[in-house]
Amino acid sequence: MIWNKEIECMSRDELSALQSERLVKTVKHVYDNVAFYRKKMDAIGLLPGDIKGVEDITKLPFTTKDDLRDNYPFGLFAVPHSEIVRVHASSGTTGKATVVGYTEKDIDIWSECVARCLTMAGVTKDDIIQVAYGYGLFTGGLGAHYGAEKVKAMVVPMSTGNSKKLTTMMVDFGATAIACTPSYLLYLSEVLEQEGLKDKIKLKAAICGAEPWTEKMRKDIESRLNINAFDIYGLSEVMGPGVACDCIYHNGLHVCEDHFLPEILNSDTLKTQKQGELGELVFTTITIQGLPLIRYRTKDLTNIDYSTCECGRTSARLGRFKGRVDDMLIIRGVNIFPSQVEAALVNVKEVSPHYMMIVDRVNNLDTLEIQVELKTEYLTDEIKGIEKLTAKIGQVINQALGISAKIKIVEPNSLKRSEGKAVHVIDNRKIF
Ligand SMILES: [Zn+2]
Repeated sequence: MIWNKEIECMSRDELSALQSERLVKTVKHVYDNVAFYRKKMDAIGLLPGDIKGVEDITKLPFTTKDDLRDNYPFGLFAVPHSEIVRVHASSGTTGKATVVGYTEKDIDIWSECVARCLTMAGVTKDDIIQVAYGYGLFTGGLGAHYGAEKVKAMVVPMSTGNSKKLTTMMVDFGATAIACTPSYLLYLSEVLEQEGLKDKIKLKAAICGAEPWTEKMRKDIESRLNINAFDIYGLSEVMGPGVACDCIYHNGLHVCEDHFLPEILNSDTLKTQKQGELGELVFTTITIQGLPLIRYRTKDLTNIDYSTCECGRTSARLGRFKGRVDDMLIIRGVNIFPSQVEAALVNVKEVSPHYMMIVDRVNNLDTLEIQVELKTEYLTDEIKGIEKLTAKIGQVINQALGISAKIKIVEPNSLKRSEGKAVHVIDNRKIF
C-alpha cells in the first residue's frame, strides 16, 4: 500500500520540477522573513532571484545546529508568532536547546509524512498502535501520534517509562503496531519474555527510530518478536520523525522529497558525493513555513540511491545510517563509530546486542574497553569458556574496527537499559 501514490511514485523529472518550484519559493520566503538568511546571502552577494531551481542549491549557504542555538529561541522563525501553533525543542546535551516552531500547515505536512511512513510499514485504520516515544518537547511522541491518527489507526499514547504497563496493554488491547526506539523495543522484548507474554502478543510491525541501529539489530528484533521492523528517520530541527522511512523491501529509507531536499556531502570538503558514496546528509526544507532551513547539516552519515525501488516508489532512498559525524571517536588515530561495534557483536551468538564502550587515556595512550553482555542461555561458571569467548570477541572487534580492545564479558541484564536514546560510549579522556 502506498499512502500518496501521486507523489511517492512521481517521475523523477516531475519531482525535480516540483522541488525547483518549491525551493525558489522557500529561498524568497527566508530572504524576506529571516534576518539571519538575508545577512548570509547578502554577504556572498546572492539574491533570491539567483536560485532558479534545484541545480542552484550548492550556491546557498549552510545552516548548522549552532546557528539554531545562537538564535535561541525564535530567531530563525519565518512567520509571526501568531502563526505558530506548536513548538518542540531538542534536548541538547551541551548548551541551549534548539527550538522548532510549526504553523498549522507544517503540522499537516508532518502528519502526511508520518502517514506515508506508517503505510510503508503496513499500518492502516484497522491497526492498534502503541506510541512509545516520549511525548512532550521531544518530537517523537506527538509526531508519530498525529501520523497514526492521520491513517486513522487506533492510537494508544503510551509514551515511555512504564514497560510493564506497556507490555500488559500490548496483550490486553491486542496492539498490532508499536512506534519506539529500537533499543527500547529490544528491552521490551526481554520484558515480554520475563513476563511470559511473548506468545500472547498480536504485534505485526514496529516503526523504530530516533537512534542509529544496524540491519542485524533490525533482523534480531524481527525474529525475537516475529514482526516486521521498519526504520523511520527524522530530526527535530527538520520537522521530526517522518522525513524518511524504509518500505517492506528494506532497501534504504524513502525520503519525503517533495518536502525535504536531500544532499550527501563530503563532510570535509562539503562537495557533493557521488551516488552511493558515504557522506554527511544535508537537508533543505522546501515547504515548511515556521522554521524553514536551508542546507541544514544533519551531521548524520549515510549515502543515497535515486533508482526506483521494488515497491514502485521513485523517491530517493537513504542507506542505513553509519553514525554521526559527532559520534565519531578517534582512538589511537583511527576513526571509530559505535555502530561498527554493534554490527560486529550481532555476529556473536553468545552475547546480547547491549554493549558499552569505555574510552580512556593511560600514559598518553588511548585505551578502549568494550563491555558485552552474555546471554542467559550461555551463562557458565567455566573460566575456560569465558576466556575463549573473550578472545573470540576480541578478534571480531579487531577485524571490525582495525584496533584492539579489551573485552569484558558481563552478566546478563547488567548493563544499563535506556528508555530513550541508548548511550554506548563513556569517554573518560581528558585532553587539553
Ligand atoms: Zn520501497
